[in-house]
Amino acid sequence: MTAAFDALMTITHRPATVFLRGEGSWLFDEAGRRYLDFVQGWAVNCLGHSPEPLVRALAEQAPRLINCSPAFYNEPMVRLAAALRAASGLERSFFANSGAEANEGAIKLARKWGQVHRGGAHEIVTFDQGFHGRTLATMSASGKAAWAALFEPKVPGFPKVPLGDLAAVEAAIGERTAAVLLEPIQGEAGVIPAGDDFLKDLRALTEAKGMLLILDEIQTGMGRTGRLFHYQHLGFHPDILTLGKGLGGGVPLAALLAREAVCCFEAGDQGGTFNGNPLMTAAGLAVLKTVTAPGFLEGVVATGAYLTEGLQRLSAKNGFGAVRGRGLLLALELGRPVGPALVEAAREAGLLINAPRPECLRFMPALNVGREEVDEMLAILEEVCGAVAPMPA
Ligand code: PLP
Repeated sequence: MTAAFDALMTITHRPATVFLRGEGSWLFDEAGRRYLDFVQGWAVNCLGHSPEPLVRALAEQAPRLINCSPAFYNEPMVRLAAALRAASGLERSFFANSGAEANEGAIKLARKWGQVHRGGAHEIVTFDQGFHGRTLATMSASGKAAWAALFEPKVPGFPKVPLGDLAAVEAAIGERTAAVLLEPIQGEAGVIPAGDDFLKDLRALTEAKGMLLILDEIQTGMGRTGRLFHYQHLGFHPDILTLGKGLGGGVPLAALLAREAVCCFEAGDQGGTFNGNPLMTAAGLAVLKTVTAPGFLEGVVATGAYLTEGLQRLSAKNGFGAVRGRGLLLALELGRPVGPALVEAAREAGLLINAPRPECLRFMPALNVGREEVDEMLAILEEVCGAVAPMPA
């Protein structure tokens, strides 16, 4: 198959391996090699590869109805919206196909709300190092330094401030501000928590100023941090919430949720051919049911603590830094730029991990990953560290 690689546009550097099959925490390539997967489609396959509830939901829905146009209601779409309302406390949903599209929708909803309720306010305060997707508006809302000069001119209206700096947020807020948008834990930046106190302060500030708080929980949502949504650790609700990745458990499904008072879209303002199609929303229902089953999230918390302890031991042995994150969204600070070399050597040793920055590794396994798989991952990583990133003298 190697010969046909160049039929694809270059958008990333892929290893010359073709994956054929996945099962739980394992991926199998065309040469029959197996890989322990602690990336899981970038925190997407929250139940692992081809999990039974997801496969069954797709198999049952496919012969029934795959698509009937977003201009009609369909059964899984309505049921998923109702289930998300009950789970989140946010009254309404709009379904999308990717996280970026959900965030585009959030930006549009906030701008419309600003037009209707705040005299045309349209700016959305965002954060350095934030990541919200790869459409032009979501790239503009992101604070990724490497994107600063890419695809200029960007979409205006996204002033940036440092994460955790409430005074900077306050200073950035003016008459034109409609909302503040952030990830509770910045995933692509290297698993950088915004901080619980900062998030609570932001909620209070946005409420006091009469503007919207938008949480991008595309990476932190659907149980990733040990609660269904990260904000549930904190005891408040955002005005707008975006979900993606784990919501479909591997299929393209994302959602924009909002409080009733914020939902000011009128017919024709928002839409898309595949939005809310029954096949994807049936998948979402199966994922939501599994993740909210009794004991599931407690398992995420326990496995997260187990992985954290293992990484801390590995860190101490190899002279690395702190482990940060929550639940099963964790990063190990390496203290030296050995991340890419570790990722490559790990892959050669049959382990898939990710280095969002050269000095850190990110771990986002399936939420139902077993302790023996965590042990196996740590053993492979330990071996690879000794070979590729020995303790500095
Ligand atoms: N927002 C966050 C926090 C993400 O981590 C991502 C993807 O990594 C996105 C948005 C974009 O989602 P998608 O790649 O599905 O468009």
